[in-house]
Amino acid sequence: MLIIYNTLTNQKEYFKSLHKGKVNMYSCGPTVYNYAHIGNLKTYLNADTLKRILTFNGYEVKQIMNITDVGHLTDDDLNQADSGDDKMIEAMKREKKTPQIIAEFYTKSFMEDLEILNFDKATYYPRATKHIDEMIKIITVLIKKDFAYEKNGNVFYNVDKFKNYGKLSNKKIEDLKHGARLENHPDKKHPYDFALWLKAPKDHILQWDSPWGIGYPGWHIECSAMSMEYLGETLDIHTGGEDNIFPHHENEITQSESFTGKPFANYWLHSRHLLVDGKKMSKSKNNFYRVQDIINKHYSPMAFRLLVLSAHYRSNLNFTWKAMDQATKNLETITQFIKKIKTLQNNSLSINNAKEDFKQVSTNMDIQIGNITPNDCLNKFSLAINDDLNTPLALSIIYRFISIVNKTTELNQKQIKAILLFWKKVNIVLGLKLNLVDKEKISIPKKITELANKREEARTNKNFDLADKLRNEIKIAGYTLEDSSTGPIIKIINKL
Ligand code: AMP
Ligand code: ZN
Repeated sequence: MLIIYNTLTNQKEYFKSLHKGKVNMYSCGPTVYNYAHIGNLKTYLNADTLKRILTFNGYEVKQIMNITDVGHLTDDDLNQADSGDDKMIEAMKREKKTPQIIAEFYTKSFMEDLEILNFDKATYYPRATKHIDEMIKIITVLIKKDFAYEKNGNVFYNVDKFKNYGKLSNKKIEDLKHGARLENHPDKKHPYDFALWLKAPKDHILQWDSPWGIGYPGWHIECSAMSMEYLGETLDIHTGGEDNIFPHHENEITQSESFTGKPFANYWLHSRHLLVDGKKMSKSKNNFYRVQDIINKHYSPMAFRLLVLSAHYRSNLNFTWKAMDQATKNLETITQFIKKIKTLQNNSLSINNAKEDFKQVSTNMDIQIGNITPNDCLNKFSLAINDDLNTPLALSIIYRFISIVNKTTELNQKQIKAILLFWKKVNIVLGLKLNLVDKEKISIPKKITELANKREEARTNKNFDLADKLRNEIKIAGYTLEDSSTGPIIKIINKL
């Protein structure tokens, strides 16, 4: 059973879904005014791993990730970011393109990143600009219920009306009142109220008609609107990066629960940030790496996936090129291992009919290999990932498994089958796309197959001396023959 650390309760909890066997999960997605950096991707990869763990556990997962194509505000340092320039407008100035072209370009780039990193894609990636009506509907109800107020074409949520404000971030309104950095908007009743709708200045390109005049939505409302549209009023899980806790997620909870009168999300998971050489990374500082930078330096994107898995999602991940070197080595260990096992499998299938025979071999994960069984290792792996996504521990179990199997000199068909099944199962969670195409492809040489066929002929003719002689020749060349009900199977002696 999955245990996760819930930011809402500040403790590890057993996960229980609202609907048996199904999970509704919402992940805050990118603002598509620039490329995604590897920090953003770390947070999305953590959510991807959670989704994969739920799938591994047998759940049917519906995941929604929003694409913010309306832009939001640049001044992230403000506690309640309702002021500052819109990020999309900044990109328009920089690139001299329309917001639609900018959003389309970076959405495509984001989707490519997901493909390259082998994400288990979300069910939908809804665009904020396509859900303005739903946002307006929620805001209208919030005004009607007296949680929000309109002034001069701006609509704000009246934070004083929500008695549990701060329940996610543990911030107290009292402290916010004394917070020196809150920017006061002239139309706000309190500096800590947050925007639901803002009046658009004349030259503001992104604008929509609304009951309060021409304007555009505040930053937080889109996630409430899109999550409810696709996943219903209460979510099982909501994910994001640690910086999303306040104000974004706090405000999502506030407006959603005021709207529905129901809990907004039962479990909140937040990823700690990725640092580069121990320093904070941010788009605004322009010190970010993209997946393309990793590729340009001739690293595999899968090494980055493995690097992310090697750190716990609630720890900072310090990205360095040295760490990428280590991740590359680890990826190579796994790749070589699976390559070897697949070669052993293929080699044992190389004589006519053996394929059928292999299929009939029952897969018993309890089979002993050295002093372990794949089943034991899978159980340990499962315990690790289900303990608040302990992927570093899960990986160490896999490396140990590989090391023990590598020390085993000969593997029979049943063992090979169990190893491959073990890998198939753990890779549901790891999501590693391995490059198994070998430069010097190892296959059974024609000469060996001919010797094996000659030996088979000798055996049919009851010439057992010749059969033994041929078998010996095959062994000297580095191969063994294993007799089966459907004929002999050639195997490479395990020394790859
Ligand atoms: P943004 O596009 O800046 O709104 O960020 C998109 C997502 O990436 C959010 O969930 C952020 O919390 C997350 N994020 C931003 N910077 C980092 C970072 N350095 N490390 C990990 N996640 C980040
Ligand atoms: Zn969001």
